[in-house]
Amino acid sequence: MINKIKGTYDILPEDSAKWQDLEDVIRNVSKLFNFKEIRTPIFEYSELFHRGVGETTDIVKKETYDFEDRGGRSVTLRPEGTASVVRSIIENKLYADATQPLKLYYQGPMFRYERPQKGRYRQFHQFGAEAIGSNSPLIDAEIINYAATFLQALRIKNIKIKINSLGDAESKELYKEKLREYLRPNIHQLCGDCNRRYEENPLRVLDCKVDKDNPVLIEAPKPLDFLTEESKYHFDQVIAALDAIGLDYEIDKSLVRGLDYYTHTVFEIDADLESLGAQSTLVGGGRYNKLVESLDGPDTPAVGFAFGLERLLLALESVDKPQNAPFIHCFMIALGDDVQADALTMVNDLRHGGLICDYDFFNKNLKGKFKQAERLNAFFILIYGEEEAKEKMINVKDTRSGIQERVPLRNLYNYIVNNLNPSHGSCSGNCSSCDEC
Ligand code: AMP
Repeated sequence: MINKIKGTYDILPEDSAKWQDLEDVIRNVSKLFNFKEIRTPIFEYSELFHRGVGETTDIVKKETYDFEDRGGRSVTLRPEGTASVVRSIIENKLYADATQPLKLYYQGPMFRYERPQKGRYRQFHQFGAEAIGSNSPLIDAEIINYAATFLQALRIKNIKIKINSLGDAESKELYKEKLREYLRPNIHQLCGDCNRRYEENPLRVLDCKVDKDNPVLIEAPKPLDFLTEESKYHFDQVIAALDAIGLDYEIDKSLVRGLDYYTHTVFEIDADLESLGAQSTLVGGGRYNKLVESLDGPDTPAVGFAFGLERLLLALESVDKPQNAPFIHCFMIALGDDVQADALTMVNDLRHGGLICDYDFFNKNLKGKFKQAERLNAFFILIYGEEEAKEKMINVKDTRSGIQERVPLRNLYNYIVNNLNPSHGSCSGNCSSCDEC
């Protein structure tokens, strides 16, 4: 037997509905914010990630799946989405589109060679968004609001928005210098990776998972204290916009994020949920004003985020869901060979009107037919025989209220739609006297 690769998993039929529901929410919330989907290949030339994500990041140093293709080119399975989106924008010259900023989202599998554990896989999925072409602090706030609204739509509560600023390139350089000065006498107290990071990019030291509780790191100088005037103004504006929207947030001066390309705003949203365990960060993101240029595009500011979908599904295990038992709207029982064609046509018309319908295909007795309607959780049972056909009527039983009525065929669709919501009570849907009709 050939087994799946370590760190990967199958989404089996019993679980696929959960994924589809999650993907529906991604699409719906993205539409509300007017973000459009972009789909890029799952592998790219390795150089894209080396330059885009950063040579000094853990992802590029230790986690990418790199291989040589049969033509001798070095290619990499994408470890994240942003570099590919930016590559595509440059290659397709989308930065010249009339509508700016470009507001794009993506979702799909990513690949990182990490130690597999709960919530951490070698093939995992991300939903990410990028707003490219505007340096406005309002769009930083908009991106954070988009991520928070998505979590609200999933009914995920107990979330904490953490926000910080790394400032522009000048602020970052100044800060790196101060940090190096501070770390120099203490670096031997930190792990081997931190010693390497200290040489290559000291900002990475603050993101260390091994030494995160080490007092050397806790007491280190913070980027927010070294912002240029312009960077400070940008951050203040982001905060003012979040206040105006009414989102609760916390300024976390230690937040830096693992990727090299961030400038200005960085943020994470954590959820305090039992089902998540220690992996409580649901989304990370921020502004990356230098990435487009560093991948040979024009100087273009951008801001974005990425959610891990596996972690969202874990978070959803702690969420009280409405009882959404599978249901259908109508189940048609046609009695007698002569009325079958008519009944099928009726069912088809109801489907074209957006109603989920099924049909009785078995020659069972009436009790068996009703039993089948019950198993399918049909809201309405439609009973149509020769007598009804003659009178151009149909019997409709609302299984939730138990009320059965004879309805003119031409009114059937309206009757069903008007009575779908049980709050109508006993109204037949065309009384023209109740509030709803
Ligand atoms: P990053 O691209 O590292 O900022 O990660 C963004 C989000 O992707 C994280 O908050 C996680 O939810 C998710 N993520 C990152 N790496 C993995 C992984 N190996 N397995 C599952 N989810 C991951």
